[in-house]
Amino acid sequence: MKLVPLKTQQTRLKTMRILSFIFFLLFAMNSFGQKIIDTLVTPQGTMLIYSNRTWIFEEDINFDGVMNQELHNEVSGDSTLNYFQSWDNDICYTSQLKNDVNKLKDTIWLCVQDSANSEFVMPFDGRITSRFGWRRGRNHNGTDIDLVTGDTVRAAWSGKIRYAKYNTSGFGNLVVIRHHNGLETFYAHLDKHLVVPNQTVEAGDPIGLGGNTGHSSGSHLHFEVRFYDIPMNPERIIDFKTKKVKDENLLVHRGAFRAGSSSSNVTYSGTKKYHRVRSGDTLGGIASRNKTSVSRLCQLNGIRATTVLQIGRNIRVR
Ligand SMILES: [Zn+2]
Repeated sequence: MKLVPLKTQQTRLKTMRILSFIFFLLFAMNSFGQKIIDTLVTPQGTMLIYSNRTWIFEEDINFDGVMNQELHNEVSGDSTLNYFQSWDNDICYTSQLKNDVNKLKDTIWLCVQDSANSEFVMPFDGRITSRFGWRRGRNHNGTDIDLVTGDTVRAAWSGKIRYAKYNTSGFGNLVVIRHHNGLETFYAHLDKHLVVPNQTVEAGDPIGLGGNTGHSSGSHLHFEVRFYDIPMNPERIIDFKTKKVKDENLLVHRGAFRAGSSSSNVTYSGTKKYHRVRSGDTLGGIASRNKTSVSRLCQLNGIRATTVLQIGRNIRVR
């Protein structure tokens, strides 16, 4: 047996203690990876800093997505409307496109121009290259504005960034802003994002650089205006010649949306095509009307040929 001097033994013991403490710390960080280790008061609000060095604003944690309480009360209080909207940084349509324009029986009033929080700024000052509506056998849910890659794209109204990442269904780099006026705007095919989710923006703030990402041929801005996920014609609200809103009062009613936008029961999202299931629909019927097969439908939607189709469900057909 080898004799070890007492001093060396003590040093070893000390090293062991330090090592076990480090292991404990690593274990603690692993098991409580999202533990808040510090708070920081900034002019933008209180920041919570996690042990993994990520951070979030305190107010974002429980944010329910309501930017306009009055509108929220009006819409959520109408049980026949049954409109849904949540706050989600990962999907672009928070109702999964289930809000039905045909249920809109009354007119809802929105203010799209006031000095308090709805001043309007043109997202990009360029030529319109494609308008909203039915084009080449598909719905074009926005207005295309010509630009050169790298041009600055700006927030149309003030609001909060709901989505800012690459979208695989055709939008490319996409920014979605939820506004105080009750609308959401989409800015697609961006070259670069200049904002992050949950960030607050003012009208005119740079939110991205224009580009040609996603399903796009040639650099342009694809700009959409949506009310509870339902697309509206931006030219109905904005005069692209004077670069101002047409009227500070926006009356939202069934006629404000494209005629037949949901009666056609077919919606498009990028290159994908969906069919909204109606009473009496069968997979075979949907397949033949869309020139595809039942097995292809099952494959696209992760369902079986025997799956019961729920009315209102969107079935991907392409
Ligand atoms: Zn477009």
